[in-house]
Amino acid sequence: MAQEDVFKKIVAHCKEYGFVFPSSDIYDGLGAVYDYGQMGVELKNNIKQYWWQSMVLLHDNIVGIDSSIFMHPTIWKASGHVDAFNDPLIDNRDSKKRYRADVLIEDQIAKYDEKIQKEVEKARKRFGDSFDEAQYLATSKNVLEHAAKRDELHERYKKAMNDGNLEELRQIILDEGIVCPISGTKNWTDVRQFNLMFSTEMGSTSDGSMKVYLRPETAQGIFVNYLNVQKTGRMKLPFGIAQIGKAFRNEIVARQFIFRMREFEQMEMQFFIKPGTDMDWFKQWKATRLKWHLALGFGEQNYRYHDHEKLAHYAAAATDIEFLMPFGFKEVEGIHSRTNWDLSQHEKYSGKSIKYFDPESGESFTPHVIETSIGVDRMFLSVMCASYEEQQLENGETRTVLHLPAALAPVKLGILPLVKKDGLPELARQIQNDLKFHFNCQYDEKDTIGKRYRRQDAIGTPYCITVDYQSLEDGTVTLRNRDTMEQERVAIKELNNIIADKVTITSLLKTL
Ligand code: ATP
Repeated sequence: MAQEDVFKKIVAHCKEYGFVFPSSDIYDGLGAVYDYGQMGVELKNNIKQYWWQSMVLLHDNIVGIDSSIFMHPTIWKASGHVDAFNDPLIDNRDSKKRYRADVLIEDQIAKYDEKIQKEVEKARKRFGDSFDEAQYLATSKNVLEHAAKRDELHERYKKAMNDGNLEELRQIILDEGIVCPISGTKNWTDVRQFNLMFSTEMGSTSDGSMKVYLRPETAQGIFVNYLNVQKTGRMKLPFGIAQIGKAFRNEIVARQFIFRMREFEQMEMQFFIKPGTDMDWFKQWKATRLKWHLALGFGEQNYRYHDHEKLAHYAAAATDIEFLMPFGFKEVEGIHSRTNWDLSQHEKYSGKSIKYFDPESGESFTPHVIETSIGVDRMFLSVMCASYEEQQLENGETRTVLHLPAALAPVKLGILPLVKKDGLPELARQIQNDLKFHFNCQYDEKDTIGKRYRRQDAIGTPYCITVDYQSLEDGTVTLRNRDTMEQERVAIKELNNIIADKVTITSLLKTL
């Protein structure tokens, strides 16, 4: 099945099973805004819990905060967002569609890589076992031509972005012959900068209202609380402050479901360090964060690091952790070395000293920062994409199954009485009442047992138990594994021991 179709199926599945709905659905939705349904909210909460606990529980030098969405407007002047939080946009005159100029060019660069990959695959088939990929990459005329074009484009693009040269960005789009995917034409407007922050008014107009912004990142709430936390928590460097919360960006192109939203949630951690230790901590956090992703078991081949071409206005070094979505490798998390940029700016604009006194050296300085920043919604999407499978069964049927990591699954146990009579529902309810204190259970007595298994597979429930006539006699039930579909008979009183260990966030944290 084409990857595009897979993605469409995942989006449809998210709606059908109560994971994600378009916002304001009965009013035909609102662009790039989504709601999480009864299953989605559980999965999302579990992702947040996995992140929060991996930061705050496992590190005794990381604490959390919850700052507000509205902040003093000068904060966004100081942070550079008022002047520099822009994307270069370009319109196609024929389709009237709007694009990000940088994204159009980055996609073109990726196309050269795809061409190289196709050459490699063709050669691998031709040469069979004797194929030497490294030698082929270094010598094939076609590969070298594609690579040279890619590198040349890359350099030109990097320079244009770093110089903020909008005319050159447009020229690159024209020179590369990039067409609008909708109209198929090259009838492009000029490239313009577009600020992504939403603003609103605070206070009534009679007493002079103030323009305030909806925060475009949660990080600034951490920076402006640095002194409060450091002092009241008696924190010593190095230490981190973590936060989960909503962020808002008026994205130009918002077409990929929950990948790019106008209202989304971030999980950010700012790690405050001594100047000069930046590169060591940057490397360490890159490794720590990738390990967190890998622990979910989706396979190393689905992740890669991507170093930034153009550094944001605050960054000294930046890497993305990318995940292989059905529409290619895409950023899920950013790790940034932010130097002392933000804290120094807030010192300047607020007039307050934000210094750390190092008792060992007797020196005072403005701490440097390494940031890890991940979008909850993009993480959610990556988990859905990696877990979704349409399986062809031996009996010719297809089953749709979500192989969610058990610790993230919304429902951990499906409790299914074989029939709706003879005391089986009562026993099943009794089991549910015992286990519901330990993990999320779902009771289901409607339809055939086969249909009920399929419903649990579709929402990713790792285990189901069936209460049958034998259960009444010997206190055992069948326990079915979602992935293998194998069943075993186990004692009801053992259920908590068998399952709890495998489905808790703690079990996942222990693998880190
Ligand atoms: P992109 O280049 O895709 O616009 P970014 O580099 O601007 O992303 P950051 O500012 O580094 O993103 O934000 C950190 C994280 O927040 C991203 O890795 C992503 O997971 C998430 N994020 C950013 N923008 C959005 C959005 N519009 N919708 C959903 N998640 C987002």
